[in-house]
Amino acid sequence: MPETTLFSRIIAGEIPADIVYRDEQVTAFKDIHPKAEVHILVVPNRPIVSVAASTDDDEQLMGHLIVAARRIAEQLGVSAAGYRLVINVGRGGGQEVPHLHLHLLAGPSLRGVGFPRHG
Ligand code: 5GP
Repeated sequence: MPETTLFSRIIAGEIPADIVYRDEQVTAFKDIHPKAEVHILVVPNRPIVSVAASTDDDEQLMGHLIVAARRIAEQLGVSAAGYRLVINVGRGGGQEVPHLHLHLLAGPSLRGVGFPRHG
């Protein structure tokens, strides 16, 4: 587990970010390169590297990530229209920042864009 990650520094206030939600377990802020009209990163305050690096003991925290995302979606007023939750896992899964995070995406640009298909 890394001592300091980019997202740990954001959570600690060392790097500026547009924080939209915070509680004792997670912090959420706007993605610096948004892929949709709403693009929020929900990040555990504890720097778990990835879903693959998590353990069975992290079950409560993993559930809380989704609970927090639901609260944020309500706070931002996107619940009724719908939204997408994404977790990239490891390099092959497209994960660039080695600190577990859940992407909350919403907005008109998602409409009609389903899950990418192979082949
Ligand atoms: P990943 O590819 O690891 O699942 O997602 C990492 C996300 O972090 C990317 O969407 C990227 O735009 C975002 N990101 C990278 N650096 C920063 C930063 O310094 N601040 C913020 N707010 N987002 C960042």
